[in-house]
Amino acid sequence: MSADTREQADAPAAARMEDVVSLCARRGYIFQSGEIYGGINGFWDYGPLGVELKNNVKAFWWQRMVREREDVEGLDSAIITHPRTWEASGHVAHFSDPMVDCRACKKRFRADQLDDAPKCTKSKDGSHDLTEPRDFNLMLSTQIGAHADAATTAYLRAETCGSIFTDFRRVREVARQKIPFGMAQIGKAFRNEINPRNFTFRSREFEQAEMEFFCHPDSTDEWFEHWSSVRLDFHRDLGFSEANLRTRPHGPDELAHYCKRAIDIEFLFPFGWQEIEGIHDRGSYDLTQHTEFSGKELAVTDEQTKERFVPAVVETSVGIDRTSLALLCAAYAEEPLEGGESRTVMRLSPRIAPIKAAILPLSKKLSEPARRLAADLRKRWNVFYDDAGNIGRRYRRMDEAGTPFCVTYDFDSETDQQVTVRERDAMTQERIPLEGVVAYLRERLGEEA
Ligand code: ATP
Repeated sequence: MSADTREQADAPAAARMEDVVSLCARRGYIFQSGEIYGGINGFWDYGPLGVELKNNVKAFWWQRMVREREDVEGLDSAIITHPRTWEASGHVAHFSDPMVDCRACKKRFRADQLDDAPKCTKSKDGSHDLTEPRDFNLMLSTQIGAHADAATTAYLRAETCGSIFTDFRRVREVARQKIPFGMAQIGKAFRNEINPRNFTFRSREFEQAEMEFFCHPDSTDEWFEHWSSVRLDFHRDLGFSEANLRTRPHGPDELAHYCKRAIDIEFLFPFGWQEIEGIHDRGSYDLTQHTEFSGKELAVTDEQTKERFVPAVVETSVGIDRTSLALLCAAYAEEPLEGGESRTVMRLSPRIAPIKAAILPLSKKLSEPARRLAADLRKRWNVFYDDAGNIGRRYRRMDEAGTPFCVTYDFDSETDQQVTVRERDAMTQERIPLEGVVAYLRERLGEEA
């Protein structure tokens, strides 16, 4: 695991964390879970804009990682799996962070993140009176069935890949895949983080998109290079600029217990460079462990050479919440406008923008034809209809939602059957035929005809 304070680089001035958090709450992208009860630390809810953004990120990942690949199969496994899964993987014994307690203020911290810990409120000089570090297991557990005893304890998965390994044999057989091939899934993961912080960056419940690529142990390096480059391209295509993206290899002391080699893909958040994705060489660790713990043979035979071997695994593991947060930070901009006004605009790429187009009739009197246009566009995209208030204010609201196009239906539209399309970033306006709106948006959104 990495420290949150590795390097506090100069973050883009526009995207201050407070501004992003406040916009997210105000516009309903992301807000605290259980808000009316004061919230619950480390848990977040995604509102109407947030869920669309997150779904677009997930859909793009699925498209690239599963649909476009002959050699990757999809999976959707249970969140709670057989408890032996987590004994075999080593999570029950080793998935922990070092924790210290302050004897004075009674607060609890991660021993490797003390640099940004708040000062002690009980001592005169603000310094903590810390205990020795102890291992704190991050697995969240629950009880299954009516009897609460050790035999019914189960774990909420700390990473989604556990079932990929336990389902490996069945999926390989049903999909008639040969090594090398991968298995991918998107789903919730849970970690009882000691200090959830930096908004959704470190949460206790979050979503991961993981792909485990099973290959011959001799070809691991080759596949590690392949997947590193595929995954970097994915982030570029999401709209991250080169200046905000970098890779960082793990030092030997940073590697997780199952890991031989790892690189992080990092994004420059307002709070510094931080991991959004990990690419890991897990060797044959997982399938060897599950063979031992289950007694089921998970080795394969190479049909040509007749060699029998336990496949090695190259893993790509990206956080959907962290990626969504990075996209929001990268997109956030405040800009001066003519006349001394300013606007906040989310420069999200059209591919992941929650709303693709807004339909804005100039007057409520024009609502009928404008609603007809909205209904037509809604068959293809998430579009928004708004006929209330001043048009400038309506544009501003759509800028904050990151909506790339606003289509205005005015009184002339009735006679000339044309509408005005306003583009979010340059704020240019263009008059186009009503019947050409679908084709226009398709092209501008980068979709194939
Ligand atoms: P960190 O060092 O930040 O704790 P990690 O190295 O433990 O992360 P992995 O186990 O490699 O993370 O998990 C893969 C991805 O899952 C991470 O790159 C991140 O995007 C996401 N992730 C992990 N922990 C959290 C969390 N507590 N909250 C949100 N996302 C997370």
